[in-house]
Amino acid sequence: MLRKDKGICIRTTDYSETSQILTFFTADTGKLSVIAKGAKRPKSSFGGPIELLTAGDMVFSVKDSEKLGTLTEFNPTFLGFTLRKKLFALNCALFTAELLNLFTKELDPHPSIFDAAIILLRTLDKDPDNQALSKLILFEFTLLEETGSSPVFDRCINCKRDFDANWKQYYFAVSDNGIVCRDCEAAFVDKRVISRETAAYLNKSDNIPQADWGVLVSIQNLLIEYITHILERPPRTAVTILKLINSKKQI
Ligand SMILES: [Zn+2]
Repeated sequence: MLRKDKGICIRTTDYSETSQILTFFTADTGKLSVIAKGAKRPKSSFGGPIELLTAGDMVFSVKDSEKLGTLTEFNPTFLGFTLRKKLFALNCALFTAELLNLFTKELDPHPSIFDAAIILLRTLDKDPDNQALSKLILFEFTLLEETGSSPVFDRCINCKRDFDANWKQYYFAVSDNGIVCRDCEAAFVDKRVISRETAAYLNKSDNIPQADWGVLVSIQNLLIEYITHILERPPRTAVTILKLINSKKQI
């Protein structure tokens, strides 16, 4: 039987390529977990993935014997865009603090890391024009470079050929710290295919503020994977950063 209620989305989990499992706090039913089948398809009846902190009218079915209901309709009345921007900015700031703590040693000054951190924190505080992610990435580049952990982006780490825009395919070998060309990729197990555009921005990181959202997301995913490899564990706050940027909508 279909039921109608109003609910606030309090938890989102990806389920399969196209579906989400969502927890709502609803007015009449209380806390309820539902599967939203196909919600991650751009043309789904939900209009794309349902985001944390969205509130709205919902139609769902739930059997008493089952814990997971099925969401059939959701019409948001409150989208929480500004809240999510603030949530993202706050988590970027916490991520910055955690990275500064993990990557630096006591009584070992790095003025350029300090400057990059201040620029980032100021941007996050003012939140101008969605620059948070590009400034976060630039901070991570500075941090990696200054602490001697910078990956190699200007040549293939194997055959040493210089990076250029005519390579047929680009790979990033996470545990071997750099990009690999197509002639060499077979020798590297731990590699990710990256787009030509992403490779070009990695090679010229000064241009990152001009990159579009999709490129920034792919760079940030790659950097967190790389940082996790360097630290031998994921930074605690990285999970939330990834969750916020990997949802389809731009923050
Ligand atoms: Zn090569």
